[in-house]
Amino acid sequence: MRFDTRLVHEGQTPAPGTGDIVPPLHLAVTYSRSAQDPPRYFYARGENPTREDLERCLAALEDVRFATAYASGQAAAVTVLSLLRPGDRLVASDDVYGGTHQLLEQARSQGITVEQADLSDARRRDRVLSPQAGRLDLVWLESPTNPLLKITDIAAVSAAAHSRGALVLVDNTLASPALQQPLALGADITLYSATKFLGGHLDVLGGALVCADETLHERFANYRTMAGNAAAAMDCFLIHRGVKTLSLRVARQVGNARAVVAALAAEPAVGAVYFPGLATHPGHELATRQMREPGALASFEFHGDPVKLLDRCELFAPAVSLGGVRSLIECPAFMTHRPVPRQTRLRLGVSDNLIRLSMGIEDPADLVEDLTGAIRDVAATH
Ligand SMILES: *Cc1c(COP(=O)(O)O)cnc(C)c1O
Repeated sequence: MRFDTRLVHEGQTPAPGTGDIVPPLHLAVTYSRSAQDPPRYFYARGENPTREDLERCLAALEDVRFATAYASGQAAAVTVLSLLRPGDRLVASDDVYGGTHQLLEQARSQGITVEQADLSDARRRDRVLSPQAGRLDLVWLESPTNPLLKITDIAAVSAAAHSRGALVLVDNTLASPALQQPLALGADITLYSATKFLGGHLDVLGGALVCADETLHERFANYRTMAGNAAAAMDCFLIHRGVKTLSLRVARQVGNARAVVAALAAEPAVGAVYFPGLATHPGHELATRQMREPGALASFEFHGDPVKLLDRCELFAPAVSLGGVRSLIECPAFMTHRPVPRQTRLRLGVSDNLIRLSMGIEDPADLVEDLTGAIRDVAATH
């Protein structure tokens, strides 16, 4: 089966004796046992058939056998960090997701050495992964990153990390499996916030870890049973429903991103535009090799008041999160990146006037009109 068919067919085993086209939602928290026939299911914190349906699908989307679903992307991330012990060394992208940033701070406080570097820069990447830089246990990268959409060479990082016996995790939330396949590029673990493209409708929180290695998978599953951070059955049902239209949604969202980015180029009140689909983007060539399409997010510098711009948009909702059917606009300086100290934020290239867009599936002409209209209005009153 090819990818788009797997989206619809994987994990859709009908319930015995019914012929259900959609597997039923299993809400039971416990399962009756008989001595002769010990049940496959024991207690829902550990095992649930609806969760397993989703997991079968997510694993198949990356051509591997294992996936575990969590209550959120953060719950998945905590599970991976449980692999590390005091004295271990983790190298991460310098502009990781805000919640990841907090988790790395916690890891530091527990005696894990955490080093962050711009892994999209080949020289810095090679330096921080070299034997001279110290031991190496886990590399944690995002590509594209948020909000500047920097692209890191997943195959190069994986080769360097594996030569040192370290694991590589790729947070693939911004690309989704429809646009990028980290495990095929050499990574060991893919992390998703299913809240974003996988769920896709801005109405369910979830997370997932996907991997090929059975031992790693068992560690994740055992930790999850202990911590109780698995995704609830209803949430798995909703995410799995969303996954079926992933390719359709993402194709439309990428098209909308291209249309909006093209329109931004003609606006005098718009400065730099960040979108990996632009030939001028530093990661353009790598993105073309590593991703099927450049994604559904774009950022730009606005020569005007970001607060007024967010207020003035009608279709782009001023809200955090991304990847859903509805277009969203946000200003990282006072929304997603508010907890990052201003100096650090500016050093990362995230200015006070940077605006991030997450394209939904609306008509591109309406999105362009909404955004350019708002930009012109606010720039004129500046
Ligand atoms: C949203 C997000 C997360 C965290 O996911 P939640 O589902 O909100 O817990 C992690 N990584 C990235 C890149 C994200 O965008």
